Amino acid sequence: MTSTRTYLDYNASAPLRTEARAAMIAALDAGGNPSSVHAEGRKARAIVDLAREQVAALVGAKPSEVVFTSGATEANASVFAERWDTMFVPGIEHASVLAPAAANGGRVIDIPAHANGVVAAEEIAERVLRGDGFGRAMAALQLANNETGVIQPVAETAAFARAHDIFMHCDAVQAAGRIAIDIAELGVDTLSLSSHKIGGPKGAGALIIRDGVQLPVYMAGGGQERRRRGGTENVAAIAGFGAAAELAARDVARAAQIKVLRDVLETAVLELTPEAIILGAEAARLANTSCIAWPGKLAETLVIRLDLAGIAVSAGSACSSGKVGQSHVLAAIGLMPEIAGSAVRISLGPETTARDCDAFLDAWRAMRGPREASPQKFTAAGSGGPLHVSSGVH
Ligand code: PMP
Repeated sequence: MTSTRTYLDYNASAPLRTEARAAMIAALDAGGNPSSVHAEGRKARAIVDLAREQVAALVGAKPSEVVFTSGATEANASVFAERWDTMFVPGIEHASVLAPAAANGGRVIDIPAHANGVVAAEEIAERVLRGDGFGRAMAALQLANNETGVIQPVAETAAFARAHDIFMHCDAVQAAGRIAIDIAELGVDTLSLSSHKIGGPKGAGALIIRDGVQLPVYMAGGGQERRRRGGTENVAAIAGFGAAAELAARDVARAAQIKVLRDVLETAVLELTPEAIILGAEAARLANTSCIAWPGKLAETLVIRLDLAGIAVSAGSACSSGKVGQSHVLAAIGLMPEIAGSAVRISLGPETTARDCDAFLDAWRAMRGPREASPQKFTAAGSGGPLHVSSGVH
């Protein structure tokens, strides 16, 4: 990041970590094919094997349970290579879960979310007990939502699913490196991860498939990834993913520090604009995520004005670039379109500083304009200067 820019969009993509870049550059020089038996091949294989251990350790899995993919979109899609008779799929899931579920051919049962952003997972139980979970059934539940950061009841839902012979998939993309993940404790059959959300390169990810879980082969070919996913491995990207995973596992311990910054930022935003609404604030949330609706404003305009002020955030309505429209996540938690359309997502990372938050608040205040009666709590007495979130942190 150049010093003139403030990057607060880690949920879209985290900056590449120095160590991940170094691992990738080293791997680019490993010329062989990991499937070859000669020394060059074995060198490439060793790089992939190390990354497999690093990624497995991030979620408490065995290296043999890791299937490298081109990203979490592929990992999520591959779960739907099975022709499911019944799929319980919350409306707040990522498009890479919703779309393959809709295309699967089986019956999709939409699971709603409460207004606080938590999926009404109890409805899965109600529907199953009513006899809705017929045939080969699956449930998908993300560990944390990409827009609100709200943490979902995965372990409880998986326990119910297991008791009723329902396959359970978890998209853990946004939770990785932010909260501790132990796949055995979660009790899910499969779990997806994305490299670029944890400081690895884009275009790499993994599906963790627990030992003994049967899924059809998604991509047949040369028998790579223990015959689950054919294709010569993207060795350099996998190496970067592995290095990032090792560091992300350590980042979990820094969540409390990030939460302090996020909470001070939210307090300051509410001081500046009391009409703002922090979405998901009543639920357990990732420490790094803040989804703020500013009624009366248009999120896309806010994002553009913040960008012009040097600050990168997302509209709550758009996770992928250039996509403008209503957020299906915010609609699924029952927000009125006018409120949902005013929501911006600020997402912090391990590199975020109080200075970054200050820059955001300066820009937020500039967009608000002068207000006679507004509280001045964060402004240095008599200075009339900019708000400094750091004054609240120290
Ligand atoms: N799931 C979630 C919750 C995400 O936020 C994303 C990325 N926006 C994905 C899946 C897709 O990941 P990838 O970019 O690696 O395909």
